[in-house]
Amino acid sequence: MKKIITFIILLLHSNYISSQTNLKKCNTTFLVNNEIDNNTDYAKARNLTLDIDLTKVRNTIKIPIVIHIIHRNSHSNIGSGTNISDAQIEDQLRILNEDYSKTNPEFPNPPRNTFLNNAGNPDIEFCLATVDPDGNTTTGITRTATSKINWDADDDDNSNPCHESNGMKRSSCGGKDSWDPKKYLNIWVCDLTNSQSNGMTLGYAYLPGLLANPFNTSDDYKDGLVVDYRYFGTIGVAAISSDGRTPTHEIGHYLGLMHTFCEEYDNQGNPVCCDNDNNNFGGYVDDTPATKDIYFGSVSANTNNNTCNDLSYSNIFTSNVLDMDENYMSYASNTWMFSNGQVDVMLATLNTSEINGGRSALKNSDVSTNCSNIISSSINISSKNNAIMYPNPAESHIYIQSVEQILSISLSNILGEIVIHKSDLENRSIEISNLKNGIYLVNIKTKSGHITKKLIKE
Ligand SMILES: [Zn+2]
Repeated sequence: MKKIITFIILLLHSNYISSQTNLKKCNTTFLVNNEIDNNTDYAKARNLTLDIDLTKVRNTIKIPIVIHIIHRNSHSNIGSGTNISDAQIEDQLRILNEDYSKTNPEFPNPPRNTFLNNAGNPDIEFCLATVDPDGNTTTGITRTATSKINWDADDDDNSNPCHESNGMKRSSCGGKDSWDPKKYLNIWVCDLTNSQSNGMTLGYAYLPGLLANPFNTSDDYKDGLVVDYRYFGTIGVAAISSDGRTPTHEIGHYLGLMHTFCEEYDNQGNPVCCDNDNNNFGGYVDDTPATKDIYFGSVSANTNNNTCNDLSYSNIFTSNVLDMDENYMSYASNTWMFSNGQVDVMLATLNTSEINGGRSALKNSDVSTNCSNIISSSINISSKNNAIMYPNPAESHIYIQSVEQILSISLSNILGEIVIHKSDLENRSIEISNLKNGIYLVNIKTKSGHITKKLIKE
């Protein structure tokens, strides 16, 4: 496979990356191809066939996760700079779990409905671990101060044990050692600015296969996701352009998915057509159309890219259809779906043993977890008729989660006047930026009754 480095040039009106013009959305293809060239065990594992008997994985699959925040020494306070807040982490986990249960806000009426019938539900839940590898209680978050300012995702020089694309995964390199990757999904959040090119990478993940050889575990430590701290969640220090879909995309890779667009070029360097995710190395997806080159724009009812003739490829389509730009595994600026075929590949990956290039040990992990993914609050929402609201104090949005379905939410001011009322939501956000600063009462109505919470708007 060819090694391809794609630089995206975007002008972003963000305080955090306005000085940088080279923004690389995902570095997975580059790193995976280098690994295949240098690691024969990995190359072999990437060629193995997945166990596609999906009757074995019918129920919701819960995956224990640990989030390693690697922050600068100077950002010692939680919530400052690279040391992102608990609320920002909770916000990302909310988005991730919406996307992997097809309850993201774009459904049931997405901006265009071209591929509505192809949209699948992975039914996978990501839950913070509550026990660490030593048996100690944990929030599922680790925080490590480092003298390193940032990490260059393009540095994959394996002769240097602290090469920067994987250095954040080693305590001896100024990062944090991974937790057993057969039991935990490790996510490192750090600064991925590339100081050499004045660019940055949003994230990357290895396709499955690093854990395939139980007799050579020297590369196991690389397994997991790396995400820039400005593209983790949508609040706190997140970039204005962050929609929280970088981890959604990277976990797609982690569970065996390729990009939906062709990553090959002809002799003149012009992009060509191919069905990128229906080949070897994470293929077998037959319901995403062949697509030439990368589309970075937004997707709406008027988007009509059709770069390749689908009748020339083996797939489920009986006519030449549009490109599926709304797929999470594309680079479009707004995405909202996995296809049914992609869901099958992810479930097959979770059904297949690590030795055979899958992640069934992770699916069967017995690590205890907290699926509310609430870190900062001690409220136990496992009891009926209880709810969690965060952040508080809040500036622009609040999020409310309840075990029971929420029938309605109303906010009233200290005079008792209702200023916001919503009745069509379930664990969704409420915009409060138009409210004056002050104290409000939030009344949450569920089937079992009412819950009232005090909110400070600032
Ligand atoms: Zn990618």
